[in-house]
Amino acid sequence: MKGYAMLEIGKTGWIEKERPVCGPRDAIIKPLAVSPCSSDVHTVWEGAIGQRHNMILGHEGCGIVDEVGEFVEDFKPGDRVMVAAITPDWSSLEAQAGFPMHSGGMLAGWKFSNFKDGVFGEYFHVNDADANLAHLPDSISPEEACMLSDMVPTGFHGVELADIKFGDTVLCIGIGPVGLMAVAGSNLRGASQIIAVGTRPNCVEAAKFYGATDIISYKDGDIAEQALALTDGKGVDRVVIAGGGVETFEPAVKALKPGGKIGNVNYLGAGEYISIPRVEWGVGMGHKQIIGGLMPGGRLRMEKLAKLVELGKLDVTHLITHRFNGMDKIEDALYLMKDKPKDLIKPVVVL
Ligand code: NDP
Ligand code: ZN
Repeated sequence: MKGYAMLEIGKTGWIEKERPVCGPRDAIIKPLAVSPCSSDVHTVWEGAIGQRHNMILGHEGCGIVDEVGEFVEDFKPGDRVMVAAITPDWSSLEAQAGFPMHSGGMLAGWKFSNFKDGVFGEYFHVNDADANLAHLPDSISPEEACMLSDMVPTGFHGVELADIKFGDTVLCIGIGPVGLMAVAGSNLRGASQIIAVGTRPNCVEAAKFYGATDIISYKDGDIAEQALALTDGKGVDRVVIAGGGVETFEPAVKALKPGGKIGNVNYLGAGEYISIPRVEWGVGMGHKQIIGGLMPGGRLRMEKLAKLVELGKLDVTHLITHRFNGMDKIEDALYLMKDKPKDLIKPVVVL
């Protein structure tokens, strides 16, 4: 079969591979739509997770079940399914401990385009099919389902990590598609003031649509100073980091109230260390928590998030700015994600 792959760090191209083999609990899926991610860009062009050879890229997609293993109970060939970007081994000890995304080792629940071939092929393989697939409701289009693979569950995980509650003032650093879903998730959780950080005009407009009350440009000065000015010097209750680099932790800590929480879902592609400002971190005693996490994945979560879309509580169509048709357009879509033109939020390729 054909697939669009990372050939080595900095290089991508089309390759031929054997169709994946279906184990007894697995499924083989024929994709209906796929979407490239900023994470593919970190992986290929920053070499952020190390060298990979001839690995098919992509971890955001939905499709039609082509084959299931003998122990798969709830899915059969022909079913339309959603698949989360993270596909844990649900019987692992890490999953039993509450961290399915780290099943088999740190970040090892993230298999597509990390430890195995991803979704940019004619077929892709899903482990633990009963736990990692979810039926795609008729009312959700394949392109919307792509947003449910990663952008929604990741942005919402930032909200979960920051533990956003009714009335909280939130600073959301980054309003690409992940940050936009963090804004939408904060809004659904009842945040009051939502200060969003970013500059691309489409993203700013979408941030307002999803519930941002204030917009800050990181290009116009220090993020913390701007956030403090917008909160009468008091600071924010919660911060979600979904963009920028290691330097964003400093303003996040500075803008945060004592007792506040920072949830990071940004994939830090470069830089050896993160610096935490000592004084603003309460000289070590400020009760300012910082937690970073990979989103959990899993069928239950997919079904619950899809329900928000089905019932009209979450409209993911505002994320999709570029639409392509046909597998050969995957390359163009990935390069859009790499080059991030000003009018881009998220591209989707319908197959
Ligand atoms: P984008 O590149 O589309 O968005 C990044 C955002 O951060 C933009 O709003 C950008 O602003 C802003 N930004 C850039 N530089 C700075 C800065 N110095 N300070 C503050 N803000 C800045 O990324 P995505 O939304 O696609 O993805 C966000 C991150 O999430 C990526 O690192 C991605 O790899 C990661 N990710 C993590 C996952 C997880 O499970 N934890 C899963 C999926 C993705 P501007 O408007 O100017 O461009
Ligand atoms: Zn992704």
